[in-house]
Amino acid sequence: MNRYAVFGQPISHSLSPRIHAAFGAQLGIVLDYRAIETGRDAFSATLAAFARDGGLGANVTLPLKEDAFALCATSTERARRCGSVNTLIREAGAWRGDSTDGIGFLRDLAHHGIEPHGQRVLLLGAGGAARAVAFALVDAGVRELAIANRRHERSASLAEALDADTVVVHEWAALDRTGAGWQVVVNATSAGHGSAGLQLPATLVDARTFCYDLSYGHAARAFLDWARAGGAAASDGLGMLVEQAAESFHCWHGAQPDTAPVQADLRALLDARG
Ligand code: NDP
Repeated sequence: MNRYAVFGQPISHSLSPRIHAAFGAQLGIVLDYRAIETGRDAFSATLAAFARDGGLGANVTLPLKEDAFALCATSTERARRCGSVNTLIREAGAWRGDSTDGIGFLRDLAHHGIEPHGQRVLLLGAGGAARAVAFALVDAGVRELAIANRRHERSASLAEALDADTVVVHEWAALDRTGAGWQVVVNATSAGHGSAGLQLPATLVDARTFCYDLSYGHAARAFLDWARAGGAAASDGLGMLVEQAAESFHCWHGAQPDTAPVQADLRALLDARG
């Protein structure tokens, strides 16, 4: 049996085993994909044991993405720019790291009819996922990428890494002064997972804005409600989750699954959970 896994903490909620089982069934690829709970201290040893047991590939999520990058013998260009990986590929007895969040995000935007080239985009957050999204947006040729993060030094350092004339940084506390006219607003914060939530000015969006929250389910609800109340179209990040998984699947198996039925299955699952 070909062994794959997703590592993280917490991990029991992960939809990845369900997604990869569905991709495998669709393409007739037999695989065993499990969720393995591990914190930072035990990660290196747990991953080594997984490799000894025949593990061929893994996904990595919070809080392990930077640690996973450090454990890789080789990595892709897009992973090096992010400084983190969400995909590990076993190659010649060592791990090769990749980051598929950026391409997953762009592919899902395309499903919504959004082509970021030439657009003015506001990115909220400067954590690991925001970093992958920011590089993808700059590569896609946005006209302006404005980044705002609660801790200003992180957005400043992300802007420095992006090193592009199109990137500007805004103070989190002064979001109301960034003005209107954003064509795309991306929420890459994890605020929806906590109780505090985001206090965003209504002036950021109007009927011409498309808002995207990387999180999904309950965690995306407040942001999507805020966006729609301002007249904007809005989506959660379920499509990105499936697309980044499809890209990982392609790294391991060389085959591209059809993401639409898998996303529809997960949407029904989330709707049933309420
Ligand atoms: P990180 O922990 O790396 O970053 C968290 C970010 O959220 C930081 O910018 C942090 O700001 C900000 N933040 C947290 N709480 C608040 C708050 N109350 N108010 C304002 N800002 C806040 O997380 P990730 O980047 O890995 O993940 C971010 C989100 O993206 C999560 O919801 C995650 O589930 C989602 N995600 C979705 C994926 C998908 O495929 N759909 C893939 C990867 C992530 P500060 O720096 O100031 O602490």
